Amino acid sequence: MKAIVYNAPREYELKEIPKPTIKPNQVLLKVAACGVCRTDMHIHEGDFISEFPLTPGHEFTGEIAEMGSEVYGFSLGDRVVGDNTALCGECYYCRRNQPLFCENFYSLGCNGPGGFAEYVAVNFDKVFHISDNLSYDQAIFAEPLACAIHGMDVIAPKCGDDVLIFGAGPTGILLTQLLKHGGAANVVVCASSQDKLELIQNNGYAETVLMDRNDYSKHGKRLKEKYPHGFDIVIDATGAPEVLEQCFDFPKKTGKIIIYGVCASDAKISVNPYQIFSNELKVLGSFAQTHCFDRAVKYMENGVIKVDDLVAKHFSLEEFAEAMDTMVNGKGLLKLIVNP
Ligand SMILES: [Zn+2]
Ligand SMILES: [Zn+2]
Repeated sequence: MKAIVYNAPREYELKEIPKPTIKPNQVLLKVAACGVCRTDMHIHEGDFISEFPLTPGHEFTGEIAEMGSEVYGFSLGDRVVGDNTALCGECYYCRRNQPLFCENFYSLGCNGPGGFAEYVAVNFDKVFHISDNLSYDQAIFAEPLACAIHGMDVIAPKCGDDVLIFGAGPTGILLTQLLKHGGAANVVVCASSQDKLELIQNNGYAETVLMDRNDYSKHGKRLKEKYPHGFDIVIDATGAPEVLEQCFDFPKKTGKIIIYGVCASDAKISVNPYQIFSNELKVLGSFAQTHCFDRAVKYMENGVIKVDDLVAKHFSLEEFAEAMDTMVNGKGLLKLIVNP
């Protein structure tokens, strides 16, 4: 089969490799679509939890082409979406029912073979049916939406909360929609792309404030004018350390600051401990997800969360380099999809 194979960070090629051999508890998915994500940029650089050689791609969907002998509840040809995470069930954290911190965290497309290939092998307990109403383009959002749902579990918003989100990438917009449905009184998105802010406004997901990347005091001032007491919840969905640092300018007393975007693993920010102490702030991290796919698929199936506007462009496996370039340089673009 054809697959993108990285031999080392930044070194990849489209290659002919053997089709994966499935284990008795696995299905072989014929990949119809696989989303490109910011995390793929971190993996490209050898960051995040990447291990090489690697076929990346962690947001995949397609139909079942082969089934192992222990698989039940599925048939050949079923349309499904795959949860890319596999937890060992035996390590210290799995035994504490904290599988997200599994010491053998295995993530297809991050440290195991993923979906930028014609086929991917997935444990069948991590495969979810999708109805014919859901297109493959829509279904790739199950993974980022699952991460946003985990974000909601971490944030635990209260009715009537005021929320500020920096960043309007696909996962930021998904989280924005969830927060709106989750009882927030006001949701404000501050981002530097006018197009994305228009999309958010036209869909009624949130109020918007244009971010000035050159002068943070400008959007900072506008936010302070509109919300002089600040926000109950302030979320960084950019992964930019300087934006995360600015999040500390906006919480109400006892407010929550959420690190949701992926910063480089060696990034540093400076914070004022006295501010956290005296205002009893909570600083929370939201990392990936496990066991959130069922809810993600349901949200998309019943139309509560909308993803159609988030698809920007399609690429073939042969055009993978173009997809990566677009990801790096295509400011303002939303979700890119590879169709193997
Ligand atoms: Zn992703
Ligand atoms: Zn484990």
